[in-house]
Amino acid sequence: MLPPIVHHPDYTAEIPADHRFPMLKYRRLAEIVSADGLAPAGFVVPEPATAAQLSLAHDRAYVDAVLSLNVPPAIEREIGLPMNETVVRRAAAATGGTILAARLALAHGLACNTAGGSHHARSDQGAGFCTFNDVAVAIRVLMAEGLIGTALVVDCDVHQGDGTAEIFANDATVTTLSLHGEKNYPVRKRQSTIDIGLADKTDDRAYLSALDEILAPLLDRTHPDIVFYNAGVDPHEEDRLGRLSLSDAGLAARDKRVIDAVRGRGIPLAGVIGGGYGADVEPIARRHALLHRAAAAYAG
Ligand SMILES: [Zn+2]
Repeated sequence: MLPPIVHHPDYTAEIPADHRFPMLKYRRLAEIVSADGLAPAGFVVPEPATAAQLSLAHDRAYVDAVLSLNVPPAIEREIGLPMNETVVRRAAAATGGTILAARLALAHGLACNTAGGSHHARSDQGAGFCTFNDVAVAIRVLMAEGLIGTALVVDCDVHQGDGTAEIFANDATVTTLSLHGEKNYPVRKRQSTIDIGLADKTDDRAYLSALDEILAPLLDRTHPDIVFYNAGVDPHEEDRLGRLSLSDAGLAARDKRVIDAVRGRGIPLAGVIGGGYGADVEPIARRHALLHRAAAAYAG
């Protein structure tokens, strides 16, 4: 059986066509994944995350401000997206999608969302194109339901997972690993359990060797009940915000290694797509599909 893929049409929100956030990549990714035969029975469609679920990782006042379209302008600027109704719907749907992918991962071993990885959202506000921290919410939902006791976040987006680090800073049940560009956004980094800050122009070989060095020992040491994998494609050499120099093959090798290491130990893995930036959504959407292809290859 191919791993379930979670998607919702609301992942694509309405923002100005010339906005620097490549919103249309979500729709295009779904088309590519379908055309590649990776979702033969169709997508699994999530329910939007509820205010109660979102409040397990975020301050209730912030959740209410977002859901009622009353985000203060300063926070809206920090998020970098116009906080209109479709953007809010997208944030709730994407978070619901990561919750669903996690449930499916617990049931089937491996499942991926076609959105998610909003790792800059902190407990009290969003930032960096991230409204709600979908992975943090999903972890807290599964824990509240007694489905997991521990979790590991493997964050390979090129930007540091500062929001995730902040939310779980005093939570010994959640281990956070961030492999990111040291000189990249955010300027003020938070302390993850383990931070690997990579130099500009880091290539496939150096990147994969840094990953190999850390991942297997970390999995053996923590043996979490679930792993959330942020497979951001912004470490790619052509990414507009990346600063690193990974190739398509390097990203594919990275995804395979993470999935092999986690699933090889019998640990469930929920994959989210993370960042990927540029004016042309086609190559970005194709890079994001590498995750779904790697998941299908593992299961097949
Ligand atoms: Zn990123």
